Amino acid sequence: MTHFVTTRPRCGPCPSCHCLRLTGIDEGLPYRADPVPLTVQAELRARLTGRGSFALLAGRLVHRDRDRIRGDVRGRPPVFASHRCGVLPAADDVEPRHVRAVTEYLSRLHAATHADEDPVLWHIVTSLGGRVIGLTDTQTPPY
Ligand SMILES: [Zn+2]
Repeated sequence: MTHFVTTRPRCGPCPSCHCLRLTGIDEGLPYRADPVPLTVQAELRARLTGRGSFALLAGRLVHRDRDRIRGDVRGRPPVFASHRCGVLPAADDVEPRHVRAVTEYLSRLHAATHADEDPVLWHIVTSLGGRVIGLTDTQTPPY
């Protein structure tokens, strides 16, 4: 019997597009995933365009195959798509039932691995396509 390496995800910005992503190894296969919890429809669209999908289970990302997707009948976990630079989820793609749990998970993960970087909220908002406006910004408001 062969055992493959599985690691806890690391949280950080993509060096190309600077969006937050999770990287790690699941059963020997490296992954890069967007930490945005997707709806069933958004997961299907991602898979149809060649992206993989991953479930957040016990603090680890697990590649979703046919059998694991069938397990959703017992309750669908937070699901992420593999990262593709420049592809941001639409607001309708985000599964609202999992946003709070994923945000808390990312905050803990990010704080543990990148305590000296920008606040995790900045990464979460920008990875969702938003823009953080600080109270001290002197730029012209975009609204
Ligand atoms: Zn990227």
